[in-house]
Amino acid sequence: MTAGCAGGRLTIDLRALQDNWRALAALAPHSECAAVVKADAYGIGLPQAVSALTRAGARTFFVAHLHEATAARAAAPDAVIYVLNGLPPGTASDYAAARARPVLGSAEEIAEWADFAAETGADASAAIHLDTGMTRLGLSPAEARAMFASGGPGFRPSLLMSHLACADEPDRAETERQRALFAELRALAPDVPASLANSAGTLLGRTESGDLAFDLRRPGVSLYGSNPIHGGSVRLKPVVRIEARVIQLRQVPAGTAVGYGGVETTRRPTTLAILSVGYADGIFRAAGGADDARGASAYVGEIPCPYVGRISMDLIAIDVTDVPEGALKRGDWVEMLGDHVGVDDLARASGTIGYEVLTALGRRHERRYA
Ligand SMILES: *Cc1c(COP(=O)(O)O)cnc(C)c1O
Repeated sequence: MTAGCAGGRLTIDLRALQDNWRALAALAPHSECAAVVKADAYGIGLPQAVSALTRAGARTFFVAHLHEATAARAAAPDAVIYVLNGLPPGTASDYAAARARPVLGSAEEIAEWADFAAETGADASAAIHLDTGMTRLGLSPAEARAMFASGGPGFRPSLLMSHLACADEPDRAETERQRALFAELRALAPDVPASLANSAGTLLGRTESGDLAFDLRRPGVSLYGSNPIHGGSVRLKPVVRIEARVIQLRQVPAGTAVGYGGVETTRRPTTLAILSVGYADGIFRAAGGADDARGASAYVGEIPCPYVGRISMDLIAIDVTDVPEGALKRGDWVEMLGDHVGVDDLARASGTIGYEVLTALGRRHERRYA
């Protein structure tokens, strides 16, 4: 695509990604810092993210599906790669071929993997997922105790892990309960490395009675510049920047209804800039403006320019009345996401979370890696 032909441009700062990983790793030097790169590395591009993180020092990656593990393997020939969604029936040999380790989340998966390892003598490295309160995947505490009491899983697991359900809300008592239960369960196999913390757990660091880091941490969203606990000691750098092109500028009088449904009416003589991105480019429709609800803002330099009216599929109107005459013209680019509008800011304005903003970045932008 010729540069400038797309309506939006998405710039991904791989150095910021590396800096975020290093900052998170440094929070608990006694615990390995892995990287979660499922969903195309939360939208930024899995091969690019895995290569950059490997250069920064990451050695262990988590994906959701085996095909993602294959892509990660191509980018990181020596890495350890875990597949969070487990072992679909009959796929054990595919895992072995990809040198991917399933995260086994049920007794059936564990039995199937143990049989495969016994029959083929293949490397049986795999994680076992223990459910400490998420109620999604993993053995219940009773199942885990029973399994280890009756001789274990039939192979030596390479990781015992569990997943925090509420760590993005630091006041919730569930996190401490999950940590204590996980500490008790991992003692069933004390020689096996243990992993509990996602981004929120990594940023929290500990609960009242203990460390959340264990042997290995699994941050995802924080690597990409979104902070799930909206605080903490780490300043995460923005990794994604979206700019939109100005298609036209127009002057309208006060009282002009703008966009579909006419849900927002200008309150003053207004200069509008019509931008060439919309909800098909990852700017959620819920971030639009209405008479009774301000929309999100784009930025022209340091000047916030609120969205006006509903967001269309391919277009957004913004109020650029406060931009000095001549400072913005047709063909210029304005910031939708970047240094002034963080992933979490756009998420809040859209009634969602940073995870959804990132994984919805869209396929239409001209993509650049910096
Ligand atoms: C997605 C996921 C992570 C990463 O979570 P973030 O909140 O993005 O840091 C870690 N562990 C498991 C099991 C996951 O599914």
